[in-house]
Amino acid sequence: MNDLEDIKESALRDIASASNLQELQGVRSKYLGKKGLISIALKAIKEIPPEQRKDYGKKVNELKELVEEKLKEREKELKNRELEDKLSREWLDLTIPIKGTVGSLHPITVTLERIVNIFRGMGFTVEEGPEIELEKYNFDMLNIPTDHPAREMQDTFYVNKPGYLLRTHTSPVQIRTMLKRKPPIQMIAPGKVYRRDDDPTHSPMFHQVEGLVVNEYANFRHMKYVIEEFLREFFQTNLPVRFRTSYFPFTEPSAEVDIGCVICSQEGCRVCKETGWLEVMGCGMVHPNVLEACGIDTELYQGFAFGMGVERLAMLLYGIDNIKLFYENDIRFIRQF
Ligand SMILES: [Zn+2]
Repeated sequence: MNDLEDIKESALRDIASASNLQELQGVRSKYLGKKGLISIALKAIKEIPPEQRKDYGKKVNELKELVEEKLKEREKELKNRELEDKLSREWLDLTIPIKGTVGSLHPITVTLERIVNIFRGMGFTVEEGPEIELEKYNFDMLNIPTDHPAREMQDTFYVNKPGYLLRTHTSPVQIRTMLKRKPPIQMIAPGKVYRRDDDPTHSPMFHQVEGLVVNEYANFRHMKYVIEEFLREFFQTNLPVRFRTSYFPFTEPSAEVDIGCVICSQEGCRVCKETGWLEVMGCGMVHPNVLEACGIDTELYQGFAFGMGVERLAMLLYGIDNIKLFYENDIRFIRQF
């Protein structure tokens, strides 16, 4: 019985002085392990004279329970303490400046932002749409029926689901916007488009920004002003701009926009093929069929639209001669912007 008191005292002392979980584990096996002091005391029950056995048994079991409980309490304390230590030791100051090189924006991102900001400044909203698009929105409603040769002009990626494709231009976003909003509309649609093209100036995926204005008075002169203002703002110079008649199924009349070559200042070079002019954009008055397909009254409203390739503009702005450089992600190239 006196032994049990001694065991209890030393056990409580050992538990209290264990300063970490490992030490506590040592204490546990010292008393409760296979050859632990309490385990031995338990085994000794059968050797105790019968008249004292009951009393002894009760005391040993109480001791065992007490020690187990104290071990558990101490374990909890030590675990909390370790967690606190860890938290105070392992922390990051997110405000410390990074050493070494910082990443930079991709030139396409920079160019896109530049375009979007100019149009935002002119009061255009920015609209987006899905890249997997309904054939109906990409072609039919843009006045490009199934047998129309324009479907051949743009080599299209179709997806397995009938009626869907990878959009070949961001024009379907115009359709989506006109279907959900009444005029006046003054929007641009920036985004990725897909065509089966692959050479030094074409990539199967590239970026486009299309613009659409629909209101009661939109006219060709209004369009010409918006485009000229945009181009001069984009290239930060008062460059010459000319409009050439062209053909698109979704606009009538249609025009192609040229700027004076920014590489040679119209002296004639390889990029402008010695003409002094660079084609940068397509535009025109929205075909009445397109407006009507979207439920817009053509007696009341008219519109103009324009579209440009972002890679093309980025190449001219930065003097890059191969479109592939944009997608190779060579850090030496990207860091220059
Ligand atoms: Zn040139």
